[in-house]
Amino acid sequence: MSKVGETTLILDLSALEHNYNYLRSQINPGTKFLGVVKAFAYGSDIVTIAKKLKQLGADYLAVAYVSEGVLLREAGIKTPILVLHPLASNFDDLIAYCLEPSIYSRNILNQFLEVAKAKQQSDYPVHIKFNTGLNRLGFSENDTDFIAEETKDNGSIKIVSCFSHLAASEDINERDFSLKQINSFKNLSNKLIDALGYAPMRHMLNTSGIINYPEAQFEMVRSGIGLYGYGNQAEVDAQLKPVATLKTIISQIHQIDANESVGYNRAFKSDGAIKSATLPIGHADGIGRQYGKGKGFVTINGKKAPILGNVCMDMIMVDVTGIDCQEGDEVIVFGPKKSAERFASSANTISYEILTAISQRVKREVINQ
Ligand SMILES: *Cc1c(COP(=O)(O)O)cnc(C)c1O
Repeated sequence: MSKVGETTLILDLSALEHNYNYLRSQINPGTKFLGVVKAFAYGSDIVTIAKKLKQLGADYLAVAYVSEGVLLREAGIKTPILVLHPLASNFDDLIAYCLEPSIYSRNILNQFLEVAKAKQQSDYPVHIKFNTGLNRLGFSENDTDFIAEETKDNGSIKIVSCFSHLAASEDINERDFSLKQINSFKNLSNKLIDALGYAPMRHMLNTSGIINYPEAQFEMVRSGIGLYGYGNQAEVDAQLKPVATLKTIISQIHQIDANESVGYNRAFKSDGAIKSATLPIGHADGIGRQYGKGKGFVTINGKKAPILGNVCMDMIMVDVTGIDCQEGDEVIVFGPKKSAERFASSANTISYEILTAISQRVKREVINQ
């Protein structure tokens, strides 16, 4: 892997291809695959990842917000895009850019029907979201007749799929709850299909759902974190390859004597003589203050260097006592050998959070395209 001269997030597209193929191998050949690229493709590079997923054969893409879908369309991506959380104020853009809304409430349905009609749309593709227990977004069970009545003889929209989302697909202890959600979705979707008189696609599984509930694939699955190389459980992690590696370099090395301190608020005070390295990466780049005071560590020349004191906006200082290193040497924050999941767990969080936290200021470099 290439050497970097500044803080860089290296994106390995051959890892993305490997993960895509692995996830595909876990589903039936006829099941469609939706790649989730919300939040800048889990903090990586939304356009690069979306283009590669299209090339690999993904049937659908999903983003959270309309503005993310607009980015993809402006980059020339023509794949169908599901917007998971559209807001009524974005409906003009949504239609202008041919993005497909998740319709999750009576309010949103009515507002979308109005806009679609005013814009003289016919059969505009929409996706009906059901709440089966996550209690976040979605229609409830007794809304199916309402949905059918409102949409059946209304030519401006067409329901192309209905879907739901598991609350704890990665947690084996919640298996009964997940099975209950799956069963309830089955009943709901059947009810909707009966009321509509036609059968939209159905989908329910995210990455851990694909692994743990293969019987609930229906016509499509939606994978995000797995594509980026994380499986929420060790056996799955072992099959996947992290796409993103976060590297930086040593800007300066200091000898710190006993009773000196390092960084803001003197949060680290030295008992004895140590050696510190200052790195050009801080909380504005995504390394939150929760990683400070010895919790998080980076790897320098194969050795662990814990973060000293408080994380600054643009820098961290790490303990390199006993590590053979020099100014300009490469530093790995996370990557294939020391995963983002492990880095995240040092501050009690998860891979999803550290990946999506890496800010737009950090340079992206794409390899193995
Ligand atoms: C984010 C999201 C996904 C992807 O979940 P992963 O655990 O990253 O695979 C799927 N469906 C919905 C509704 C989501 O919000």
